[in-house]
Order: sequence, then structure tokens, then C-alpha cells
Amino acid sequence: MLWRGRRQSDNVEDERGGGGFGMGPGGGFRIPVGGATGGGLSLSGIIFLVILFLALRACGIDPVEILEGGGGMGTGGGQVSRTAPQSQDEMKQFVSTVLAETEDVWNGIFQTNGRTYEEPKLVLFSGHARSNCGFASSAAGPFYCPDDHKVYIDLSFFDQLDRQFGASGDFAQAYVLAHEVGHHVQNLLGILPKVNRMRQSMDEEQSNAVSVRVELQADCFAGIWGHYTAQKGLLEKGDLEDALNAAKQIGDDTLQRRSQGYVVPETFNHGTSAQRMKWFNLGFQSGKLQDCDTFNNPV
Ligand SMILES: [Zn+2]
Repeated sequence: MLWRGRRQSDNVEDERGGGGFGMGPGGGFRIPVGGATGGGLSLSGIIFLVILFLALRACGIDPVEILEGGGGMGTGGGQVSRTAPQSQDEMKQFVSTVLAETEDVWNGIFQTNGRTYEEPKLVLFSGHARSNCGFASSAAGPFYCPDDHKVYIDLSFFDQLDRQFGASGDFAQAYVLAHEVGHHVQNLLGILPKVNRMRQSMDEEQSNAVSVRVELQADCFAGIWGHYTAQKGLLEKGDLEDALNAAKQIGDDTLQRRSQGYVVPETFNHGTSAQRMKWFNLGFQSGKLQDCDTFNNPV
């Protein structure tokens, strides 16, 4: 992706270095630890985390997304990512640029529809983050908190995406960010609040099915962003394939097969690899909001 030298967003809040536990296994990505906080977790802390985990699930955030992928086998050792940012500093510039690109695209789309896009903040954290949705560890992966309109990401996740999930390339990373911004768009459109109300009267299986539709729509919205990014001539050869591969690697069936060796479809809450690729690609090809209606169409 040709991102260097382009506008970087001011909506980035850097909260790294607050005593987190960096998880980058070598490779120069280790975050300096201040040592100001940290220490063991008390029982009340653990109970708090469990409640938070449930609360996050209730608001449609992805605490399970990455946890379920544990124990995966790294692929592509020694493979060089397509112009992927190499240092934390460069990664910050990269995500700031991608965020700016999402602002430009969504400002335009909202304007066309007679609405105003309220830009989300992007919080960079290391180890753990405190949001209005509670406390989250980087092990849960990037997430969006509807209550404070912020996307949270530990940049070491991109390293994990590459090593553990075999999804490399800067456009794959951009897709992850654009997906979280997609949740923000859903929030502004009133979709997330509506879905969360509906969920209250559902059993777990129904709730998972709705969650899949929410996630696939965020993928489709990420695809819409990709559509306009391609139109600007910012994509390089192989970028689209990298994003589609990322969508494939984090599909529920692929994650479950990798972590436990079999799949349990009733527990899917993000969609299969095929579904995630399909909806990202649909948004990418069309660029239109109305083509991302995952609620009234078969997924
Ligand atoms: Zn999501």
C-alpha cells in the first residue's frame, strides 16, 4: 500500500509505555516497560476481568476473536511482508495514515448521505487498555468501544497477525483497522445499539448468529474503504490478496480448526473464512453502503 508521505490523522492517542506487558517475541518490537504499574492480579481483579469479558461480548466487541486463535502454528517463516512497517514508530505513522484515509472516505460517504461523520479516536496501547467498555488486555486483539467511540489497538498485534495467523502485508493490517472503524460506522448508523437491544432477548446461539452478521458487515465496510483506497491508486500488486488472506485466517472455522482441530458452527460469532472473504470483497468491489446489508441478505 502506498501510504508513505500521506496525511496522518490527529485522532491518535498514544497511551503506550504505561507499564504494559509487551508480547512481541523478539524482532525488535518489544515495548519499553516503565515499571510504574503492573504486578499480579488479585482475585477481585480476575472477577473484574471476567465481568468485563462478558460485558465486551454483550456490546459486540471481539474479546474472543484472538483468544480462540491461541496455539496456532506460524506460517511463512522468513517471508517478508509487503512493505510492512518495520518499527513501532513507523507502525504508528502507518496506522495514523490509514486512520486518516478512513476519515476521508467515511466523511465523504456520510456527506453524500446528508449526514455528518464523527471521527473516532484511535488509542495505541501496550499490554492493557482502559476504555469506557472496561479493561482489556492486548491478548483480546484490537477492539472498538461503542461507549467512547474509540478503537483500541496494541501495535504488537500486527506482528502476531503475521507470525501466528500467517496474515502478512500492510494492507492486511489496514484491513484490521478498517474493520474496527467499520464497527464505529455501525455505531453511528444506529446498528450496534439496535443489535444490542435485540440480543437481550436471545439465547446464545441466536446471539452468535447476529454477531456474525455484525462482523461481516464490518468486513464489508472495511471493503468499502478498500474500494476508495484502490480508486485513489494507493494499492500495490498483491494488496487485495493480502487483505483477503487476513479475512480468511481469522475466520471462525479456520481459527477453531487451528486451535482445537474441529469446528462448532453454533459458536461462530465472526463468520467463516469464506464469509469474511466474501463480504470484504463485496464491499471492495461495490463501494456502496447498501450492498453491505448483512441483516436482510443471506450471508
Ligand atoms: Zn469485529
